[in-house]
Amino acid sequence: MTDHTITVAGTAVDTRHWIGGERVASAETFTDVSPIDQSAIGEISRGTATEAAAAVAAAKAAFPGWAATTWTERARILHAVADGVEKRLEDLAIVETTDNGALLRSHRRGVMPRVAHNFRFFADWLLRLDHDDFETRGHTNHVSWDPAGPCVLITPWNAPLMLATWKVAPALAAGNTVILKPAEWSPLTASLLADIAAEAGLPAGVLNVVQGYGAEVGSALVSHPDVRRISFTGSVPTAKRIAESAAANLTPLSLELGGKSPLLVFADADLDLATDLAVEQYDNAGQVCLAATRILVEESVADEFTRRFVEKAARLDQGDPRDEATDIGPNIHARQLEKIDGFVQRAVAAGARAVIGGHRKDGLYYAPTLLTDVAQDSEIVQEEVFGPVLTLQTFSDEEEAVRLANDTRFGLAATVATGDRERADRVTAQLVAGTVWVNCFFVRDLQAPFGGSRHSGVGREGGTWSFDFYCDLKNTVTAP
Ligand code: NAD
Repeated sequence: MTDHTITVAGTAVDTRHWIGGERVASAETFTDVSPIDQSAIGEISRGTATEAAAAVAAAKAAFPGWAATTWTERARILHAVADGVEKRLEDLAIVETTDNGALLRSHRRGVMPRVAHNFRFFADWLLRLDHDDFETRGHTNHVSWDPAGPCVLITPWNAPLMLATWKVAPALAAGNTVILKPAEWSPLTASLLADIAAEAGLPAGVLNVVQGYGAEVGSALVSHPDVRRISFTGSVPTAKRIAESAAANLTPLSLELGGKSPLLVFADADLDLATDLAVEQYDNAGQVCLAATRILVEESVADEFTRRFVEKAARLDQGDPRDEATDIGPNIHARQLEKIDGFVQRAVAAGARAVIGGHRKDGLYYAPTLLTDVAQDSEIVQEEVFGPVLTLQTFSDEEEAVRLANDTRFGLAATVATGDRERADRVTAQLVAGTVWVNCFFVRDLQAPFGGSRHSGVGREGGTWSFDFYCDLKNTVTAP
């Protein structure tokens, strides 16, 4: 073991950057802390503008070679990366759980298999992209999907490797080179991905990983003139800063941001299903961008809905995320917990009632909370909390339900619970959201466009939409 390798639950993780096929250390480090017990996991290289420039230079140098590989060769290597993810699934699962506190059982059975699937899906989708030539007055039009160049991919901590690979896989499949900057609160699985990609035969410089703070190495990356795409998942304030930097170089941007999504429960809904959907919103301790945190219930069933919800929420097991029985783990960081509690205490001071929860527990755990008596224009209804905190409001008819649902600056997702298909169609057509689920939640197919409207984002990821973003489309017109 070198100074730069830490052992996390039995797995060796290199704490340095991965630039141009080599491990590179920074002079400074930052401490990575586990949210499970707030213990220090290790010291991670703290990148600066110097490492950002080195990573962009490496990506730029590797670009012509990677862009020139055949599509089948790229697809083959991405499948080999997926094989590597599957081989190291258990390591990835435990390291991610230690690093960000999300449930080990979902990393094992849901997230990490999907990380492998992300590589397979985009490798295969590449081979299905439309290449049909067409004719104009005897001239042939040929549209080609040309790779754009070095892409900077910046990701948050709530689902680190899952969100990173939604970007890395299509960017690489398209023939681009990549600089991945994971969140400083969850840096570890990106480093393991670098190892896996190298073992799979990805050439040096095609995937680079830099560690560090957003305001330091992150801002240096997004303002670099040699970067051809920036794809960002994270918060609205950061997105605005990144957009300013991107504007200086006219770098195309994809932004996947926050939400304040509604769950609309109509009186004709299956209340058992509706309450299951509502309780599901506590998943990942509420740290899910898509979470339907505003529950809107038709007045006539509000009492019964609340009674059943409380009964089910009381059965949730909160504790160590490594334990198979645990349903809710810790929140990511002391600063995040402060933020969550601040939202709740200000809401209560403004007249909200905590039907359940409303307080911190030991360590970084926050009691699952349901707040009623909240005003539509209040902070707790309008702002993303990103913790296990839901609000409940009632509506009297469909029109009011839609009005309340759409009345925020976000537009990421919405869930509708109703037994009436026609109502579902009517309501869905009026909702402002990138994804609407009817009588279900969180079903996501990578073929579907994914993204948000209004302040929830710019652009869409998934299937061809990802390639639209990561490619420079070129039309070549040839005379007869
Ligand atoms: P954040 O905006 O604080 O940080 C996200 C990333 O941006 C981190 O890697 C950070 O280091 C980096 N960053 C910060 N400042 C930067 C700068 N000036 N330049 C470049 N990079 C910078 O967000 P977070 O707290 O890590 O994540 C939570 C947010 O992410 C929530 O708002 C959540 O809704 C959102 N999110 C959205 C989706 C989606 O798909 N729409 C998915 C997950 C999370």
